Amino acid sequence: MKNNPQKTQKSRREFILSTGKLLGAAAIAGALPGESALFAESNKQSAPVIAQGKPMIIDVHIHTHLPTAINLPEAPGTRLPTPLELIAKMIEEGISKCVVLPLVSPECRDVMVTTEEAVEICSQFPDRLIPFCNVDPRYITNSTKANFIPLLTAYKEAGCKGVGEYFPNIPLDDPLNMNLFRQVEEVGLPLLFHLAPKVGGYYGCYDDPGLPRLEKVLKQFPKLVILGHSQVFWAEIGFLNNPEERGGYPKGPIVKEGRLVELMRNYPNLYGDISAGSGHNAISRDPEFGYRFMEEFQDRLCFGTDYCHVVQELPQVPYFRKLKEGKLISEEAYEKITWKNASKLLNL
Ligand SMILES: [Zn+2]
Repeated sequence: MKNNPQKTQKSRREFILSTGKLLGAAAIAGALPGESALFAESNKQSAPVIAQGKPMIIDVHIHTHLPTAINLPEAPGTRLPTPLELIAKMIEEGISKCVVLPLVSPECRDVMVTTEEAVEICSQFPDRLIPFCNVDPRYITNSTKANFIPLLTAYKEAGCKGVGEYFPNIPLDDPLNMNLFRQVEEVGLPLLFHLAPKVGGYYGCYDDPGLPRLEKVLKQFPKLVILGHSQVFWAEIGFLNNPEERGGYPKGPIVKEGRLVELMRNYPNLYGDISAGSGHNAISRDPEFGYRFMEEFQDRLCFGTDYCHVVQELPQVPYFRKLKEGKLISEEAYEKITWKNASKLLNL
């Protein structure tokens, strides 16, 4: 019997919606009145997913994957959320839209999320989820001459709005990376990366204290928009007294501005993804410094959470609520950081 593509599609969707690993759609809808239409069989034209009157919040950094029948060896509580679990979390936290970041380099997890999978997930919730594509620089031929243009172009045509989360654990300015970055710049997609303090034992591209390799990339590819993320990136918001601190979450007041501030002033193609403990720590460890930082770089900071475990606190959400309610940053900066910058950068 011939495969019927429509039937296959429907079966897959039914599987996604009904698998025992997911929260039941009806249960979510029942618990969250007014959002039940979201969980109806995909209806791209009419799904009223963004409730009228709710403030817009765009999260530029989350992870999800399709449920699998394989019992993957992940510790309890550290499982990637399924798409429905993600949507339920977004509703609970008041997040309007999310950027779904595929995971394709082998250093990070025992789960890969391909670009194809991310695009398929986002196609089920087009008003809520925005796909990025992702590649590893060793793709195609593991060569500094590999041609990524056709692949990146195909991803862009499929609706991908950027590249990331990019984290091969090789030096940031490795010739393999430089070859790829040149082509990402040419295709015109922003790149979101994770930086690491070492090669080996980590995921993320390696940079030295003071981020000299990042500066080299920013200088060499001035039209490549880079969204910086991770402990190694954000630790440099303050001057590093002890370079060992950069693998973690340095606390306390920032007495002297760090390299990150200098790089953001000098390179307009450097943006900041404030997701995860690293981004949140950077903007909140010294509140007054954080407010000034957000005002100065209000055009290049993007709200994010890095929601990647099914049970996970998202401290950015109450923090930004506090910023708004307490008028701790300007209304203009708040709006830009929580959604306008992402909307502009991603052409939403
Ligand atoms: Zn992430």
